[in-house]
Order: sequence, then C-alpha cells, then structure tokens
Amino acid sequence: MWSYRQSRAALGERVGAAPANLALIAPVSATPRPRLFYNTAYGCQARTDARRMRECVLMPDNPGRMAVHRTSPAAPARPTIAFAGGTLNRAAYLRAGGQAARLRHESASRAVLVGADQQVALAGARRIARIPIEDLPAGAPLTFLGLEHAGAAVFAADALDLHTDEPQAFTPLRQLMAELDPAEAALAAYAVGMVGWHRVHRHCGRCGDATEIEEAGHRRRCPHCGLHDFPRTDPAITMLVQTGERCLLSRRRGAPANRWSALAGFVEPGETPEEAVVREAREETGIEIAGVEYVTAQPWPFPAALMIGFWAFAAPADAETNPTPDPEELVEARWFGRGQLASALQHGSIALPPPGTIGNFLISAWVADAEATS
Ligand SMILES: [Zn+2]
Repeated sequence: MWSYRQSRAALGERVGAAPANLALIAPVSATPRPRLFYNTAYGCQARTDARRMRECVLMPDNPGRMAVHRTSPAAPARPTIAFAGGTLNRAAYLRAGGQAARLRHESASRAVLVGADQQVALAGARRIARIPIEDLPAGAPLTFLGLEHAGAAVFAADALDLHTDEPQAFTPLRQLMAELDPAEAALAAYAVGMVGWHRVHRHCGRCGDATEIEEAGHRRRCPHCGLHDFPRTDPAITMLVQTGERCLLSRRRGAPANRWSALAGFVEPGETPEEAVVREAREETGIEIAGVEYVTAQPWPFPAALMIGFWAFAAPADAETNPTPDPEELVEARWFGRGQLASALQHGSIALPPPGTIGNFLISAWVADAEATS
C-alpha cells in the first residue's frame, strides 16, 4: 500500500512521459483493494484503485512528499484535514545544549501566543500572530517549536505565564481550523499542544515535586526523583465502517441533534490502532469488522489526541445486520446507502462533523469517490 511512510523510491514504476515535476506512476501491485495516497503537502488524501492512474507532483523541497491530482475531470474538490501539513522545520537538534535558548535573543525570533484553553492570537484572517521575542517579558518561559523557511526561530509562549498588561485578542483554535492556511493551522496546533502539555505537567506525577523544563521545552524533569515527562499525544481512532455501497454512521450523545459521524474511540493500553477499530465497532454497534485499512491522521490538540483514520470493512455476516448502538455513547446508529447519503448531504437533511475534521473528511471522501466513478 502507498502511504505517507513511503519514500519516492518506493512509489512504484514510472510508466509515462511527464513534465519535469510530474510523474505518472502506477501502483506497486494491482489488487482489488483501494490504493491510498497521503498528501503531506495539503494534508489531504486521495483514493484510487488499480484501474485509475494519478498524476503525482513530486514536491521539490521534499521528494518523499507528493501532491495528488485526480485525473477524472468530474472529480470534486476534496476536503482538507486541519492541523496536518505543517511546514515548520522542527530542528530537534537545536533543543539541546542551550542552542534554542540562544536563538531567543535573535532579532528575527518570534513567539506564538497561546491564551486560555486552546486559544491563539491572530494576525489577519488566515495567519496566527508572531510576536517579537524582545516584546515579551525577559525570562518568559518559551518552548522552541522550530525554524521557518527563512530560518527564523519560532517559539510557543503561554500567555498566562507572561503577566503582561498588553491587551491581546485570542480566538479558540477549534473555531479556526477551516479558516487558517494549512501550515498556519498546523503551527497553531503544535503550539497549543505544547503549551497545553506544560500546563498540566508542572508537578511530578510520581512524587509531586515541581518539575523543571529541559530540551528547550520538550522535556520536563523532576529534580527530586528524576522522572522525565515528554510531550503527550494520545492515539485515538475513527473509522468509517462500510460494506459495499453502504456505510455506518452514528449520532453521538452530546452532539448536535442532526449530526451524523463516523465511529471513534481511544486506543487503550496494550492494543494496536487496528485492534481498537475492531473493538470500538463491536462495543458501540455490535458490528464485527473483517478488514481495516489506514487512511490518514489528524493532530487534534483538544487537548492532546492524534486521530488515526481508517476504513473498516464489516464482516460479510454483519452486512445485513442492523447496528445496535451502545446507549452510553450513541443515540442512534444506522447504515446509509452511498447515493442516499450523497442526496441527504446535498439537501442538508443531515449534517456532518465540521469541515476540517477527519470525520468530515472520511465521510466526504467516501461519498465523493462514488460520485467520481459513477
Ligand atoms: Zn518526582
């Protein structure tokens, strides 16, 4: 399977002439299962199968990345996944030995401010603000995020730590995910995730002593017992359960009344993401899963999740089974025909999770693929 993990060398056989920055490539092997492309440049994903070819633009700054263009003129625009597609060079080698600390004194260095909860300061409609470090109180705790294209260092600052009277307007990041430029949204998610982690790890989880910041903000250490804490990311899965031309959607407790979503849940200790997909589908709907295929992922810093998206193929014996919703989690769960779902979305009779979420992406991509091939 082609995925984000594969490099240019592993992409497959070059099969046709193309402009210098284009390559027509064929799947490594032809199977009846869908092939998946991960588009790191735009944080979205395209799907194909052995019958169709795609043009892949090899990104000049990173040959392992590619942008995918559908060859079908009828192909609709695909939704994007917010917070994926960051372009910042994280420059982890600068975190140690005080190198990042020295960068904070460079005149070009900037800080992304994170306000209460998961709010960020904006500079215009589609960009987040970058505050000159020299404008912040001396000695303000900063987390080194990385280097921008021009080489300027970017840090994250917790506005709650600054104790400044400077007025600053903040906006909840969750409201911005479909509005910010993709790279800006990814940077904001990175900053919010790091600041949020620091806020809840000020004390040691083993002995309770105050912890100290190390590695330019990427590690905390307890001086009393030596425990190390690292920035936390909690894996969660979301999957579109499907069988042939039908997919399974649910209405979750607490969600807007008309919103239908893919199933989701956290990966538990001692299981793989694929095993979590099978378990959650069984627990939440009683449907058995026979096959699981990775699609894409989304950083989800509310507060610290990584959403891992899958197609989940129902076992043939359950293809005609009505889902049994877990009353603790779901209000309702049911199968939707692909054409029925497309029509309902077109007429607005049902709603999906907001644009920019991986849940919206999975459902929209599944519907759009049928429209492109019909
Ligand atoms: Zn300790």
